[in-house]
Amino acid sequence: MAVKVLLEKCIGCGACIDACPFGALVLLDGKVDINEACSQCGACVDVCPENAIIREEVAKEAAMDKSQYKDVWVYVEIAEGVPRNVSLELLGEGRKLADATGERLGAILIGQGVEGVAATLFANGADKVYLVEAPELAHYNTDGYTTVVTDLIKEFKPSVILLGATNDGRDLGARVACRVGTGLTADCTDLGIDSETGLVAWTRPAFGGNIMATILCPEHRPQMGTVRPSVFKKPIPDATRIGEIIRVSSMVKAEDIRTKLLNAIKVSAGSCNLDEAEFIVSGGRGMGSPANFRFIEDLANVLGGSVGASRAVVDAGWKPHMHQVGQTGKTVGPKIYIACGISGAIQHVAGMSSSDIIIAINKDPDAPIFNISDYGIVGDALEVLPILTEKFREIKG
Ligand code: FAD
Repeated sequence: MAVKVLLEKCIGCGACIDACPFGALVLLDGKVDINEACSQCGACVDVCPENAIIREEVAKEAAMDKSQYKDVWVYVEIAEGVPRNVSLELLGEGRKLADATGERLGAILIGQGVEGVAATLFANGADKVYLVEAPELAHYNTDGYTTVVTDLIKEFKPSVILLGATNDGRDLGARVACRVGTGLTADCTDLGIDSETGLVAWTRPAFGGNIMATILCPEHRPQMGTVRPSVFKKPIPDATRIGEIIRVSSMVKAEDIRTKLLNAIKVSAGSCNLDEAEFIVSGGRGMGSPANFRFIEDLANVLGGSVGASRAVVDAGWKPHMHQVGQTGKTVGPKIYIACGISGAIQHVAGMSSSDIIIAINKDPDAPIFNISDYGIVGDALEVLPILTEKFREIKG
């Protein structure tokens, strides 16, 4: 979809300029002109009293020759100079998709001074790295990164793009999909290839998590989706793999970026970094009160891990939503997940069942959490947790 001004109809009244949330319209010689900040939201179309602004279907044109679109791409997120786990997980899955369709796996790497990361991307399955470096791109910003990824798609025409369902991936994916006129399946929990069509089959919870929907993108390219962190395992890196770096110049200018990063502050860094945590100690309603979460936090601290929570706990206001594990919270995959006073409802299990080792502490021997646990302790979590914490403290010296 593109937005176009019919100059012969435009009376230069400026109603569209006031309505545009992106400041993308200006008056030039008494007629409205649309600049690059346009997100094609259509707010101007709705307010024009002369019907002088129209939406034009360009997506179909882009999709007409789908054979031009080849290769699977992964958008790589960088945090403190290294790729985020979710990006490595997606390289692993992207590799499988690329092998299944006989295509190449590309990685989009954007930043400043990030070329050194390319070796890690090759080791984790990428054949090509599309590298865009510029001072304006040193940190993720919506305007700059959207322009860069959109330009890359227009130039190289990938068939599939995977992004993490993270704050940045969700922000970027939706905007880019809109700019290039394709669809996006958000928050996927599984990926595959549809045997009939050869298209990517994107699976995600739908209708409040009551069904799993599998979605195809038959008409438009690229096929795009965001995928939850930790639903897939990271591939085993192969340091002998090499690939091709394709360096692309950034067309982004500093004045194109409407936001400014003033400061980056880690929010309780260790305790709620569930996406990357190797150890997670999670508490449920069985912990009895918010104050009793100190037992959970003590054990998490000793293990150097993060604190999770069930939805019952979040709904009760004992912990903020950023700690929630499960279908409507985070999907996690630590080495060890310790569930304390959590019953094991299917919606909770959906978010943590891919943990390497699950340990449950519950005073009900028939609690469903024990059905998916590797180790179970039947007992009162308020008594067991301090003992465990003390033992681990001794072991760690
Ligand atoms: P409970 O089910 O009340 O279990 C408490 C457990 O603690 C019991 O097993 C009890 O035996 C045990 N216990 C009690 N006292 C002690 C003690 N002193 N020591 C040890 N054990 C003790 N839930 C999520 O967690 N995450 C989600 O993302 C999520 N999404 C949902 C989405 C939808 C659409 C729906 C309908 C529900 C969702 N839920 C989710 C809610 C889910 O169904 C459960 O209600 C919730 O997980 C229960 O939380 P809980 O295990 O802490 O509490």
